[in-house]
Amino acid sequence: MMEADVVVVGGGGSGLAAAIGARESGANVVLLEKNPALGGTTARSIGSISASGTAQQKRRGIVDTPEAHFEDMALFSKKYTSRPDNDPLRRVLADNVPETVNWLGALGVEFFGPLEEPPHRKPRMHNVIPGSRAYIFHLERHARKIGVHIITSARARALVRDGERVRGVEVARADGAVETVRARRGVVLASGDYSANPDMKRELISEAAAAIEPINPTSTGDGQRMALALGAHIVNGDMHLAGIRFVPPARPSWISRLPPSRWLTRPASIALRIASPSIVRRFLMGFLTTVLVPQHELFEAGAILVNKRGERFTDEKNRAMHDVSRQPEGIAYIVFDAALARKFSCWPHYVSTAPGVAYAYLSDYQKFRRDLYHRGETIDGLAFDLGMDAVHLARAVAGEVAAEGVAPARASLGAGPYYALGPVKLYINFTDGGVAVNERLQVLGRDSGPIPGLYAAGSAGQGGLLLKGHGHHLGWAFTSGRLAGRYAASEQVAISRATEPDVAAQA
Ligand SMILES: Cc1cc2nc3c(=O)[nH]c(=O)nc-3n(C[C@H](O)[C@H](O)[C@H](O)COP(=O)(O)OP(=O)(O)OC[C@H]3O[C@@H](n4cnc5c(N)ncnc54)[C@H](O)[C@@H]3O)c2cc1C
Repeated sequence: MMEADVVVVGGGGSGLAAAIGARESGANVVLLEKNPALGGTTARSIGSISASGTAQQKRRGIVDTPEAHFEDMALFSKKYTSRPDNDPLRRVLADNVPETVNWLGALGVEFFGPLEEPPHRKPRMHNVIPGSRAYIFHLERHARKIGVHIITSARARALVRDGERVRGVEVARADGAVETVRARRGVVLASGDYSANPDMKRELISEAAAAIEPINPTSTGDGQRMALALGAHIVNGDMHLAGIRFVPPARPSWISRLPPSRWLTRPASIALRIASPSIVRRFLMGFLTTVLVPQHELFEAGAILVNKRGERFTDEKNRAMHDVSRQPEGIAYIVFDAALARKFSCWPHYVSTAPGVAYAYLSDYQKFRRDLYHRGETIDGLAFDLGMDAVHLARAVAGEVAAEGVAPARASLGAGPYYALGPVKLYINFTDGGVAVNERLQVLGRDSGPIPGLYAAGSAGQGGLLLKGHGHHLGWAFTSGRLAGRYAASEQVAISRATEPDVAAQA
């Protein structure tokens, strides 16, 4: 039987931070990752992280405080939801995320920015260079260097208890072998969200959400389920982010394939500080157009949605999200005329944006996402380019809706040439339901007291914290992970070898 002081479940941002946090506090650590490689949703993210008082802010003369950040986070939450925040956890994040960003920097992560994002009163959004894989690259390298024992293709499937105390994890390996990894001090659940678990989405969100394709197909809520089996509960289980997005490129852009080692990212970050805005923009577009979503304003302005047969199927302004996933292969194309193409070619009408980072116009898609950009002098020409039935497309452009019971939202498109962007699909980015935790990231049980020996971080341990705005999810993942690892390592407990461990219900 394998044994460690601290066992971490999950090798994304929060898990790697937890493992390093625990190891640097003197614990020996085993990190279990169910996939063959580390990364999780963290490696699929844009990579922005919001913080105050960082070295980057100071270099630009920005005076900012965790207190101001704490206050501004509430402005974001109020903008999007009326439900209450978990103020103690928000305090933990705002107070500790400055150290997190500086810590990531010391490990080799380079940032561009910080950039503005109202209602933040100060520029706080730090964007990782060249992309979010850099977090995993540097954290994994450091974790291995300091002696974290990383085991991939090892799925934690149940928590092992000794009385009330969590003493380890039951693990299934790729070859089918099942073993127990004992934890002398604590287990940290850092296993991400449940956006890829239809049953949990059905139970906690809705029937419709259960069918939505996740960005990360391995986010199956294992940590939440293992903790539920011990009496934990999920807070804000219905909260999630879903929307229509462009499908990812078959091959990542050259910028996102750059090695994230410091010899390259350091000069890049210095160059970006002094480069002209047009060069900075070109650099950002290279990877942003791979992750951006179309603005709803396109539909407000008159663009239509057609399925792969060329049929219009929805009231684009009000039901697009609902209907796209019901189309053949779950895909659709955004179609518009010459007048709209002109409109969405310059400020203030952009196709998509990462607020404060950059704005992408039609020409950026033509340049950076040729796979998504389609143009025809005539409707027939566009239909040919898209492999669609020209008669269906002509009807759609003329304002006819093929689906029964759907009223045409607007009249026909105007004169050509005609354009299409797509395919688009409905995706669920992430769910926000994490188990309830206290400020020491201990998982709370039935009586609202901590379950001894059990910690949670990142999405698994979101605990009702509202993370609206950009860069707060990653901020929470790294910060809560780092702290959970340290707290777990600081537990002083004697192990009773007399008692047979009890395996809780399997995830
Ligand atoms: C497209 C996209 C863009 C985003 N951009 C941003 C952004 O710019 N800024 C921001 O703040 N947030 C962003 N987010 C959100 C952010 O990426 C996540 O909230 C964050 O990465 C969660 O980190 P985590 O460590 O909790 O989970 P993950 O990174 O998903 O890590 C969990 C790990 O646990 C492993 N695991 C799961 N179950 C088990 C098991 N049973 N046994 C062993 N291992 C297991 C998983 O395989 C995974 O590797 C974005 C999300 C998406 C989808």
